[in-house]
Amino acid sequence: PVDRSPEIQEARLKLPILAEEQVIMEAINENPVVIICGETGSGKTTQVPQFLYEAGYASSDGIIGITEPRRVAAVSMSQRVAKEMNLSHRVVSYQIRYEGNVTDETKIKFMTDGVLLKEIQKDFLLLKYKVIIIDEAHERSVYTDILIGLLSRIVPLRGKKERPLKLIIMSATLRVEDFTDNKKLFPVVPPAVQVDARQFPVTVHFNKRTPVDDYSGECFRKVCKIHRMLPAGGMLVFLTGQAEVHSLCRRLRKAFPFRKNKTEGAEEKEESVEETRKFKKSRRKKTMPLPKIDLNNYSVTPVDEGDEDREAELEEEEEDAVGSDIDLDLGDDGLEEGEKSDSSLPLYVLPLYSLLAPEKQAKVFRPPPLGTRLCVVATNVAETSLTIPGIKYVVDCGKVKKRFYDKITGVSSFRVTWTSQASANQRAGRAGRTEPGHCYRLYSSAVFSDFEKFSPPEITRRPVDDLILQMKALNIEKVVNFPFPTPPPTEALAAAEELLIALGALQEPPKTGSLKDLQIAKLSCPISPLGMTMASFPVAPRYAKMLALSKKNDCLPYSITIVSAMTVRELFEEFERPAISEEETEKLKGKKARVLQMRRIWAGQGPFQKLGDLMVMLGAVGACEYAGCTPQFCEANGLRYKAMVEIRRLRGQLTTAVNSICPDAGLFVDPKMKPPTETQVTYLRQIVLAGLGDHVARRIQAEELLDEKWKNAYKTPLLDDPVFIHPNSVLFKQLPEFVVYQEIVETTKMYMKGVSAIESE
Ligand code: ADP
Ligand code: MG
Repeated sequence: PVDRSPEIQEARLKLPILAEEQVIMEAINENPVVIICGETGSGKTTQVPQFLYEAGYASSDGIIGITEPRRVAAVSMSQRVAKEMNLSHRVVSYQIRYEGNVTDETKIKFMTDGVLLKEIQKDFLLLKYKVIIIDEAHERSVYTDILIGLLSRIVPLRGKKERPLKLIIMSATLRVEDFTDNKKLFPVVPPAVQVDARQFPVTVHFNKRTPVDDYSGECFRKVCKIHRMLPAGGMLVFLTGQAEVHSLCRRLRKAFPFRKNKTEGAEEKEESVEETRKFKKSRRKKTMPLPKIDLNNYSVTPVDEGDEDREAELEEEEEDAVGSDIDLDLGDDGLEEGEKSDSSLPLYVLPLYSLLAPEKQAKVFRPPPLGTRLCVVATNVAETSLTIPGIKYVVDCGKVKKRFYDKITGVSSFRVTWTSQASANQRAGRAGRTEPGHCYRLYSSAVFSDFEKFSPPEITRRPVDDLILQMKALNIEKVVNFPFPTPPPTEALAAAEELLIALGALQEPPKTGSLKDLQIAKLSCPISPLGMTMASFPVAPRYAKMLALSKKNDCLPYSITIVSAMTVRELFEEFERPAISEEETEKLKGKKARVLQMRRIWAGQGPFQKLGDLMVMLGAVGACEYAGCTPQFCEANGLRYKAMVEIRRLRGQLTTAVNSICPDAGLFVDPKMKPPTETQVTYLRQIVLAGLGDHVARRIQAEELLDEKWKNAYKTPLLDDPVFIHPNSVLFKQLPEFVVYQEIVETTKMYMKGVSAIESE
């Protein structure tokens, strides 16, 4: 029996899903696989685990597992459910990539989809679980898709063992044909229970004209208008990323300030400090304690969890710094004519995005201060994962920021594009949860009708080498036959197998027979022993290869550090930010000089220097750990504290993974790691080349220089266009003849990042 508080009980009874409890439980009792569709906010994530718990689905012989595509959701939903059920987090727990609070008593476990995938590698039948819920299936994240494919096979196997496993797929949209009309996936069509949305009508207003590019400014004007002219009710604004969110928050706070009592005022001030992403040392310490590293307690999870929002937000810090977001500090000029600061109409403005600290995210669930109107400025996270109460007006810029990959070259770039019709409708729906609402679309209905109907599943949009390696490690040899809800394009599969063969992770097929035979054979190569080792490292196959080669010359601690840094990415703070005062400008200049100096020191001299940016990463992490990895050290040396903490965690995780494969390595994360010797650096460069062998570039020779655009440029085997060393690279000025790069990112030009020099033969 669950002992809920009266307030919780009352709130629950208002949720549409409660009316369907019996229908849902009957469907689950009678079918191995059930699909539940219900609008965001109908109660799927918080209530279905409770239904199952109360129906006895968590017992001594199995627990309830729920997967989320976002870390934020896994953590916050486990806390919410624990609170609703009045149970400790020892019973309702979560596990995400680096951390968790799972215990022997855990009965309901929220986790990221990546965590469950890794568990399948250890125990294919998932015997620990009685139910698996795949949440947010409509998002079609890569891991969600793979899990559904795998579970479609695991469920019947468990049935045969007389230990049935229930699979529940939950979606915020009704578009579930990829799961239901897919005989390869589920030969018996699973029933789909629809939860009545109890949605109030939302009136959609289109702009007559679509702003050419300044959708942020258009958002600002629209919010001002709504706030001045329309009756009470919360507002939710959709923008594409963190910097835009903060910029709009500032402008709105300036336009509609509200005076609060002292304590609230202090809190508000702290928040704007956070927004500048400058560390306020004392605070950071309070809110972000350094993680304790318990090496025995790491569950090793697979390759990076595909939390695209986080990645997009990370990327933005950089753009923001280059000055695309100058209106952050426009001062009063940021206000349009006639938009004078007006404190008679207080607006309570809150940002919301994936990377925001959890305690800040929690603010949006609380009622706004008396006499104010709530205005949440959010990225995509507010579209389906989190439900904000009391929203009556939605302002939708219609855009979304996504990472795009070139299918052949793997070159990636973040782009802001129009969203899909399905997403726009989800956003509009946020306005009608508690009463009839309005959605203001800052684009015309003609533009809307040109949107694609649905966003294509992630698996069709990105390289799949990491997934293929994980699948091969599960002995799925013929990946083409795998029951994907939507298969990745054949070119992507072929490119992945090609890369994995080149890395030695797959056994090369015999070169006999026709070309066609060879192509087919290539698509079903078994994994090699090296591949098995690589698959046990939770990083991209290229980096896993580097780790697998690093035992010689005691290089493991160094390659683990480099690989961690390359996986976490964007270690360095950018600081070409518009300064506020002259004094500030001077300070910034001083800091910049100091930071560049540090990077040159970390890059080393002579042979050390040739390791290039990877040597800088190694030096930066080493120095930071030596100093205790404090926010102060990071601030003083231009390092991103969050990145450093994440690198520390990943180092711990990789160290555990290495030790479990070769116990005689006896590795530990040494905070006082000595710099590598010259021999080690030479060897590290070979290792890097082995992992990034297909990422080589050669400097254009003077005699080949026909066109000015090739000045200082490099040529790669894959691209026709010139690529350049990124200006932030320590090798930017040296221009070695041959380099390997970690990745090419396209902004104004194609830039190589994470560059090392290689010997010319
Ligand atoms: P769904 O998964 O169908 O989108 P949820 O189960 O996430 O719905 O949410 C159900 C309700 O619980 C929503 O109305 C939401 O406002 C409320 N809720 C969710 N998390 C919290 C929280 N942390 N604090 C307060 N209310 C919450
Ligand atoms: Mg949900």
